[in-house]
Amino acid sequence: MSSTLTRTLLFVGIFSVVLASSHLLTHEKQAEVLRPKPSTLDVSGHPGTLLSGIQDWFASFATLADMPKEERLRLLREENEWKNRLVMWLFPNSIRERIPHFWQTWCRCYLLCAAVYFLVGAIWSYYIYFCFGDKLFTPETIPAFKDVAEQIRVSNIAMPLYSMLPTLTEYAAEKGWTCAYPRVENVGLPAYVLYFFLYMASVEFGVYWMHRGLHDIKWAYRWLHYDHHKYNKEHTLSPFAGLAFNPIDGILQAVPYTWTLFYCPMHFLTHEILLFATGVWTANIHDCLHGQVWPVMGAGYHTIHHTTYKHNYGHYFVFMDWLMGTMHTPEQYEAERAASLKPHPAPMSVSASVTASGSEKKQH
Ligand SMILES: [Zn+2]
Ligand SMILES: [Zn+2]
Repeated sequence: MSSTLTRTLLFVGIFSVVLASSHLLTHEKQAEVLRPKPSTLDVSGHPGTLLSGIQDWFASFATLADMPKEERLRLLREENEWKNRLVMWLFPNSIRERIPHFWQTWCRCYLLCAAVYFLVGAIWSYYIYFCFGDKLFTPETIPAFKDVAEQIRVSNIAMPLYSMLPTLTEYAAEKGWTCAYPRVENVGLPAYVLYFFLYMASVEFGVYWMHRGLHDIKWAYRWLHYDHHKYNKEHTLSPFAGLAFNPIDGILQAVPYTWTLFYCPMHFLTHEILLFATGVWTANIHDCLHGQVWPVMGAGYHTIHHTTYKHNYGHYFVFMDWLMGTMHTPEQYEAERAASLKPHPAPMSVSASVTASGSEKKQH
């Protein structure tokens, strides 16, 4: 446990240093804007300076200093209204105009979530079970219709609540409580790439610990995460299990995508695409087909998670499990399974064993 704590602190330390150093990654125009602004914490002086020092430090990120805050928030709000219009054309104008912006956003997120879930699940299942089922599976490993129907039922109950997460995240971004920025030009491409990697590192870290916590904390497993672990055999998992969670469980595992926005600058549309891409990803990791693409933590790893409960908690990549010592590769799993299935030799008497080894020698 102490080594896990040390590794966790090491990760947080390196992350914080790189995030703090990202101030240096400003192009010329931004450097001019930034020069007069304080970029370090000033803890001396009158009470309240620590808080304003922290605010100044955040404000001095290239992203936030590039344009006035009001302009940044106006662009974020406009972008969200544009996304609402793209999806909400389904509603007649007279009805749509009466729905408040917040609930239009929720409707849009819900419709997109359902579209991703059903389209990806249906297309994926059609190809792996109906088109290539005889090549990819043995008959007893194809899930029964009743298991898939149960996964769809659980997902349908959870989706309206899942949709609250991106809705509240957009609300927070529009209010200016996050470090989200609307345009790549706000930071320039190098900083965009750096922040992207920092953001994903924080998400991987957060998802790992959320998921591990949902196993290690007994009541959390029993009341929240067990609903997803009912499907623990290869013939009960399917792409439709991807969103089959207790809604609180599903939100907890996705919330690192939101909380990271509060301390790591991130292009907002990229953040939303990544959040909805998890719908595609979870369909993929529940199909039980091991793609063998290092360092991706694909279905082979996740099937092991569903059968051992104590390995492979990670999100997209194997790094967090490797760092925390919980990684178990499909190759290791197969080797162990083959060893356990091997018939144990019948106990032999000493003389029989000597004869056997003698005859073995003769054969060489
Ligand atoms: Zn789990
Ligand atoms: Zn799962």
